[in-house]
Amino acid sequence: MQTEHTPPEETLDPESWDRFRALAHRMLDDTLDHLATLRERPAWQPLPDEVRRALDEPVPRAGAGEEAVYDEFVRSVLPYSNGNRHPRFWGWVQGNGTPLGMMADMLAAAMNPHMAGFTQAPALVEAQVVRWLAELLGFPPDAGGVLVTGGTMANVLGLAVARHARAGFDVRAEGLHGGPPLTVYASVETHGWLGRAVELLGMGNRAFRRVPVDADYRMDPAALARRVAEDRAAGMRPVCVVGTAGTVNTGATDDLRALADFCRREGLWFHVDGAFGALAYLSDGLRPGVAGLEEADSVGFDLHKWGYLPFECACVLVRDPAVHRAAFAMAAAYLAGAERGVMSAGLPFAERGVDLTRGFKALKVWMSLKAYGVDKLARLIEQNVRQARHLAARVEAHPELELLAPVPLNVVCFRYAPAGVADEVLDRVNAEVLLRLQERGIAVPSSTVLRGRFAIRAANVNHRSRRDDFDALAEGVVALGREVLAEEHARR
Ligand SMILES: *Cc1c(COP(=O)(O)O)cnc(C)c1O
Repeated sequence: MQTEHTPPEETLDPESWDRFRALAHRMLDDTLDHLATLRERPAWQPLPDEVRRALDEPVPRAGAGEEAVYDEFVRSVLPYSNGNRHPRFWGWVQGNGTPLGMMADMLAAAMNPHMAGFTQAPALVEAQVVRWLAELLGFPPDAGGVLVTGGTMANVLGLAVARHARAGFDVRAEGLHGGPPLTVYASVETHGWLGRAVELLGMGNRAFRRVPVDADYRMDPAALARRVAEDRAAGMRPVCVVGTAGTVNTGATDDLRALADFCRREGLWFHVDGAFGALAYLSDGLRPGVAGLEEADSVGFDLHKWGYLPFECACVLVRDPAVHRAAFAMAAAYLAGAERGVMSAGLPFAERGVDLTRGFKALKVWMSLKAYGVDKLARLIEQNVRQARHLAARVEAHPELELLAPVPLNVVCFRYAPAGVADEVLDRVNAEVLLRLQERGIAVPSSTVLRGRFAIRAANVNHRSRRDDFDALAEGVVALGREVLAEEHARR
């Protein structure tokens, strides 16, 4: 017999709020316990095979319940991160995150506002944060700006605005068919985002004109001028110079004042990649090192590196808000504005980038700036630079260690290099030293290659590190260097 059967209605809210509340409190308590004891754990640990297997399962058709999945998270996921919260993590450029930032992300997710724009308080929080950041970096308070996932996206958006503003034809309508080939100039030390950005923006990798650097890894302005002139003579259209505040390899900063002057004279857009270095501008003592940043047409920078906030969070600022909007504004019937009601402010954030639905990242920035104040963040940035200089001084004072690049900011490149050992052996030894530092959980620096030599590289955006953590790194490199070199000799 056929009966009319309506399935019971369901929801993803908890069946029992009391039970869920107990679980939620447990999650929070466990997390805070974990954060409070990071220093007692190894900086990193390899992933055991059983965990690898546990994380390769068939699709779960039927649910195991909230408690069960949390227990599995605690067992299989939580202990095996890449270690970037640890006081001895200085690999690549990864921030620690903060407990307050974590809570802000929870509150943001709980509130779950749609941040394309709209009128209500969350939009005002983001607008406020963007205004503060503009002011702190010496930009006009009405500069265009929006929070995005990371420095890569912030820089891509800056370059997209530059392309639109300086192509000399309507890129939005014509694509790149509307005129001569567009070119972009940046130093060979520029982070990898730019190569992918010119590809994504249809200009092609060859449009990225790689300008050589001086002995301090800063863009050579004479070479830049020559290259722009040559390209113009060859029928290309230079649109943008990208300067870097704090290169990823060594923390070098291009002469941003000179680049700004050059761009003004030549009618080029000046974008600054300040992924971490831009925030040095917050410190009175460090500002001269990144001076000229405030003259850029646009700047991209992270808040999840030297802003110490949890992933993800970055910002792009564009000096002229109208030019910013012109690159991304859109019209769609289903997004029409209104005089009153929910849509009365339009979607200003959606028109400053390519994301439509966006999360409430602004909350963690707002809470962090208000709770700690800019002065404290500036002091922490200065502390990181002092620690880097302390490490550099230890390296220089030790006969078996060698500093491989100047330390203008927070990045230290060095190696184990006792006298009389060939470069090719040192490359091999130092690569092994780095792996043992990581695998034994002593510390997590990463590496780079500078002028053909393998360098152990510590990039310090760590608010948990203390000076003696850097002593431990230097001592660890010496001890492991001796160990590995002895093995090299024994094998001969
Ligand atoms: C980290 C970094 C980037 C990329 O930023 P993400 O947040 O990783 O996308 C770009 N430039 C420099 C100099 C960086 O250090």
